[in-house]
Amino acid sequence: YDDRDGFIWWNGEFRPWRDAKLHVLTHGLHYASAVFEGERAYGGQIFKLREHSERLINSGRILGFEIPWSVEQIDAACQETVAKNGLTNAYVRPIAWRGAEEMGVAAQATKVHMAIAVWEWGAYFGVEQRMKGVNLAMAKWRRPHPETAPTASKATGLYMIGTMSKHAAMDEGADDAMMLDWKGDVAEATGANAFFVFDGEIHTPTPTCFLDGITRRTVMGLAHKRQMKVVERVIKPEELPRATEAFLAGTAAEVTPIRRIGTQDFTPGRITETLMKDYEATVNNRA
Ligand code: PMP
Repeated sequence: YDDRDGFIWWNGEFRPWRDAKLHVLTHGLHYASAVFEGERAYGGQIFKLREHSERLINSGRILGFEIPWSVEQIDAACQETVAKNGLTNAYVRPIAWRGAEEMGVAAQATKVHMAIAVWEWGAYFGVEQRMKGVNLAMAKWRRPHPETAPTASKATGLYMIGTMSKHAAMDEGADDAMMLDWKGDVAEATGANAFFVFDGEIHTPTPTCFLDGITRRTVMGLAHKRQMKVVERVIKPEELPRATEAFLAGTAAEVTPIRRIGTQDFTPGRITETLMKDYEATVNNRA
């Protein structure tokens, strides 16, 4: 990803893509003092931009640092980066991290840096694959207890178990991993929230130790608009055989049907299809 044309927003100015480099003693690299966002622009406009910028600032505060830019400045910088790269449909990746000004676990003297990269990115999973639904393997790693890790922050360190779980799933021929939480209840995939249909109602795990995703909340709102009932509750993995539909929701994944979790098969159905289409209409301003 580093050797290409384009511009990356870097602490308030644009740098050529290839020159957006860090020192090896960057605190964020050694101690995971970094937070990020994942956003999508549709037709040049970043969907739910304000919510993403607010979450980025809040993620940093949870880790004990203040990003030296306001929510309005971050909003503007993200939109400018999309435009500067001549993109309309794009993935947007803001990231903030403690720099290399001090080395060690304690690093109060480090500066907080921020960069924004954007690139063209279609469906997370290929279109054809998306219609069939994705295959998820059960992960061995579990989402940590909220007193064990800053689970409400979109912090880079939390993605370590995500990458390990996704690699293990792909080694088994699956597309992604379904993660349980520390109690053994259903949590989320490695980069998206999960929904299930039980007796015609939409059920989703209560986000007590993983992100209450912006897409998750958007999808819940779309379901309410259709008078569909949405229940947030603890979902046990033993209940999954009773679910008639299952799907993922996330900025990158959008609404993606699930075909299989472990040994359990699901058939993407009417509710998933309706929400997939409603989400697509909403992000493209056709709602
Ligand atoms: N969980 C994880 C682990 C994620 O990385 C994401 C993507 N940010 C989500 C859930 C979904 O969040 P959102 O809908 O805000 O993109």
